Amino acid sequence: MEGELERAKRRLLEHLAREISDKRVLSAMARVPREAFIPKASIHLAYEDIPLPIGREQTISQPIIVAMMTEALAAKETDSVLEIGTGSGYQAAVLSLLSRRVITVERFPELAERAEGLLRRLGYDNVAVQLAGQVLGCPEEAPFDGIMVTAGAPRLPRILLDQMADGGRLVIPVGSQREQNLLLVKREEDGYTVKSLGPCRFVPLVGRGAWSQGETNGYEPFL
Ligand code: SAH
Repeated sequence: MEGELERAKRRLLEHLAREISDKRVLSAMARVPREAFIPKASIHLAYEDIPLPIGREQTISQPIIVAMMTEALAAKETDSVLEIGTGSGYQAAVLSLLSRRVITVERFPELAERAEGLLRRLGYDNVAVQLAGQVLGCPEEAPFDGIMVTAGAPRLPRILLDQMADGGRLVIPVGSQREQNLLLVKREEDGYTVKSLGPCRFVPLVGRGAWSQGETNGYEPFL
């Protein structure tokens, strides 16, 4: 017999399939157990289309946003992908099924360690979790075919454009701390193109090239 969670998962996947046409993205999201990436108290909400708190005032993104961003990134099996903002590790798990390897960077050691342990335990062996350093992203391992930023930036960080491979894609929310616009940037031989994918709302990207710690004090993700 189908349980509550399975039923909710099936409903969510049907909902995603109405918005998302890339079958690879839908099948990756069907395979990753979102309930494993959220605190026990919220497990019954694992397959609702909402963001959920994961500690340190951070959130696991809303499933439709994960799906949209993953579709926009258009990762291929041979691609090397960077995610900035590991959080729970859920998005990294989805990306790992669609690319050759994923490096995911997180600024809170506590979240990075938890995500790393979980990804290991669930067998997502092509994902490496790294603690954020002074420089945004991961210049040592660049260039990347795909870069996904899962926190909101005040502007397009130059330093990330430099970490894109030729033909590479960058998906990033850019705007104020209240609301951002999801941007898809493509690096082509003769420059960059930028396409807007619509409004979204993320916790702030903090650090050099983004918001400073002080600017984000008192930020309430659920207001
Ligand atoms: N992708 C995550 C959700 C991201 S929430 C998931 O699937 O669960 C955004 C995360 O970005 C938070 O964990 C936050 O700590 C992290 N973050 C913010 N600024 C960062 C930076 N400069 N470098 C790395 N991580 C950052």
